[in-house]
Amino acid sequence: MTDDRSGSSARHRPPRRQDRRPAAERPATESPRAQRTTDRSRPPQWRQAPLRIEQSECISCDACVEACPSQFGAVFNLGAGGMAILPELCSGCGKCLPPVCPVDCIYPDEDWQPAPEQWWQEPFGPQDPYVQDDGTRRPSGQPTRIRRW
Ligand code: SF4
Ligand code: SF4
Repeated sequence: MTDDRSGSSARHRPPRRQDRRPAAERPATESPRAQRTTDRSRPPQWRQAPLRIEQSECISCDACVEACPSQFGAVFNLGAGGMAILPELCSGCGKCLPPVCPVDCIYPDEDWQPAPEQWWQEPFGPQDPYVQDDGTRRPSGQPTRIRRW
């Protein structure tokens, strides 16, 4: 008796269609960032520690939100909740560091803890600054849709 799991049905499966659209044109919900948001996990190949914002020093200028590359999209302005870097989304690339941050209040967070539940409402939420109105990723260098409080 043959085992169909490894037999003809698998061999005749149609090849998976490759999505040839540039990454920037694909829906942001199909991006690695979306997967990280779903899994709430930080890739082990990211060797740099994530960064954290010292709220007592931060002036909420939003420059770090603008500077964070949209493929990471890790920084959010939570209004009264202050600024948040989701460690699971932060690669530690350092693009938000001075001179971007005018008061030098962003630090490596070697002992990072999982982002609190409330912070996970932001990525892919209605105010996600890294996703454009058409659902694609914000191109680098373009201003974010920063929430004004
Ligand atoms: S280190 Fe890079 S990924 Fe992390 S918050 Fe700053 S700009 Fe974004
Ligand atoms: S750039 Fe610095 S001061 Fe401005 S919001 Fe970000 S952490 Fe705060």
